[in-house]
Amino acid sequence: MIVISGWISPVRFRLLLLAATLQALLAPAPVTGAEPALPIFDTHLHYSREASDVVSPREVIALLSRNGVLRALVSSTPDDGSLTLHRLDPKRFVPILRPYRGTIGSGNWHLDPKTPGYLAGRLAERRGEGIYRGIGEFHLFDPEDAKTTVLRRVAKMAVERDIFLHVHAGANPVAVLFGLQPELKILWAHTGMVTPVSEIRRMMKRYPKLWAELSFRGEEIMAKGGLNPAWRALLLAYPERFMIGTDTYANHRWEEYGALIQMHRRWLALLPGDAAGKIAFRNAARLFGWGRLPRP
Ligand SMILES: [Zn+2]
Repeated sequence: MIVISGWISPVRFRLLLLAATLQALLAPAPVTGAEPALPIFDTHLHYSREASDVVSPREVIALLSRNGVLRALVSSTPDDGSLTLHRLDPKRFVPILRPYRGTIGSGNWHLDPKTPGYLAGRLAERRGEGIYRGIGEFHLFDPEDAKTTVLRRVAKMAVERDIFLHVHAGANPVAVLFGLQPELKILWAHTGMVTPVSEIRRMMKRYPKLWAELSFRGEEIMAKGGLNPAWRALLLAYPERFMIGTDTYANHRWEEYGALIQMHRRWLALLPGDAAGKIAFRNAARLFGWGRLPRP
């Protein structure tokens, strides 16, 4: 893998991407255990404005294809990036509607009274196409952030439309959301990022409509060259509830994309095949559509 650090120009970024592509094409096929060709459904992709400056939509598709990523949930700031990818490859990209736009971002979206109207408008506009399968990824940094009027309306909207909320938060804000609407379906971004396994297990047991994606958790799952026993037990206790994610929140994550997927493949290869297949793609395919997308 090509490793870079610090700021790089868009031109240099493209050259590095091209070099990485050639390297991947020339390298022998990676050995990842019993299922080297296990397809991946990446449930945490962003294609925001900064990314579109340095990676073209066609390069994104090529990068995912090379890594066996056949489907992806994509959200972006602004939302247009997700729609660009979806229009180019509607089967591969399932858009998730992000509430961030203009000056509205992770720190203030939950307080902005225009947020529910913005989301409802976008969802209605695209309803005939049936493309949005969720709202997010959005951040809730504190349980209090989940108690606003905006969140009450967003949670109601998600239940009425039977779509997911993709939530970056610790366990407590997630619990508050389920308190607002017990019928909510939540995709827990990064499985809480730093939430300990014991707490994740408690959440999974308590909330049957909580699913979790594992971006940023792979190195912890793969601790000391083998599967972390606590993670292995958790994944095998709830194999229908976990999914793969990479989280391309910044441009360097695109450069690392192949390595992020390979890292997930390493620990997936150490799980029983049935559980690995569910976590790699079958859970997401069932929930978000594999071929023709279900309409909301
Ligand atoms: Zn996140």
